[in-house]
Amino acid sequence: MLNPHFQRLKSAYIFPIIEKKLAELQKDHPNQKILNLGIGDVSLPLSPRVAEAICEATREMTSSPRGYGPCGGYNFLKEAVCENEYATFGLDADEIFISDGANTDASSLLELFADDALVAVTDPTYPVYRDATLIAGKKLLTIPLSEDQGFIPRPPIERADVVYLCSPCNPTGVAMSCSDLQEWISWAKTNKAILILDNVYNGFISSKDVPTSIYQLEGARNVAIEIRSFSKWAGFTGLRCGYAVVPKTLHLAELHSLWQKRIDIKTNGISYPIQKGALACYKKEVKEELDAQVALYKTSADILLQCLSDLDQTFFGGIDAPYIFWKTPEGLDSWAFFDQLLTHSKIISIPGSGFGPHGEGFVRLSCFISPSTAQEASDALYHHFATV
Ligand code: PLP
Repeated sequence: MLNPHFQRLKSAYIFPIIEKKLAELQKDHPNQKILNLGIGDVSLPLSPRVAEAICEATREMTSSPRGYGPCGGYNFLKEAVCENEYATFGLDADEIFISDGANTDASSLLELFADDALVAVTDPTYPVYRDATLIAGKKLLTIPLSEDQGFIPRPPIERADVVYLCSPCNPTGVAMSCSDLQEWISWAKTNKAILILDNVYNGFISSKDVPTSIYQLEGARNVAIEIRSFSKWAGFTGLRCGYAVVPKTLHLAELHSLWQKRIDIKTNGISYPIQKGALACYKKEVKEELDAQVALYKTSADILLQCLSDLDQTFFGGIDAPYIFWKTPEGLDSWAFFDQLLTHSKIISIPGSGFGPHGEGFVRLSCFISPSTAQEASDALYHHFATV
């Protein structure tokens, strides 16, 4: 018998459709340069110092054998994460669980909740939360986001057991302020819910009123699990390392020990060299190098934001996240504008409708590009609007 819940996955996966359209364009115009503002993956190379730390750890294993490590991560990395990211919020290293990245944590955390738990997910959303909820057979509550509310999620009138929040958000690029998140914390307390905050873009936050961790806020340690990753700020998408913070003080206090149990049963941990590479990210000179990479992506975002504002367009995000959610001009649907951008300006975007019905009428631009590519894209857009 197959898992029947896979039948609940309704949305067509958009990336194969985009690749097909791209292949067709490249066939017709083989020498045409395409500007890829679709992909949400890092484009700058891995820090050589991080690479060296990984190599050194691997070499070390040739003289002193190292087999399976602790399933939830080596203490050296848990302690470094705690000291650098969380110590001031009263969290301990044993509340931090090292993983192979945020996707795994976001989907696996659902295993801790009852089969009939009601899970709330925004629309538009990073699709993993919705699809993982569906295939886990759990009940889904959709929280529609709207342009009128600046795509900030507001607590629903209904109750829910678990809520996924993504801030700074993929795909909208919008980040929740302290007061936005505080409202959710109060709601979760009243409704005995657990918030799962996906905070993989924390390294991109620059607005003063946006918290870099939910644990900066009062009451968060009773209701919130935070997920982070080395993927985006340290270029680890191809290396795989992240972590979940599961406080012992959650109102469902067993969540901490259940998560430990689940990790012990289902994983054998992340490799020693990769954890050493992640540890290297906290060295002062490496941190500076990584901050400079994030600053470059943010420069690219600034170039695109300036262009869209010059063109009098409506858009969201791009300040605390490497994504811009751009309202399609003249009420075009997401795919029609995607096609127009690709055909006329040779720019790849992602149709907002791919992130849920409430993303219709928008496209997402990724700022994981060099400033020169951002400038080329801007020039193409100025030209596009002057001629279309
Ligand atoms: N969460 C969000 C919101 C993302 O945008 C992404 C990647 O694009 C991930 C999680 C995946 O992170 P990781 O590489 O750590 O699995």
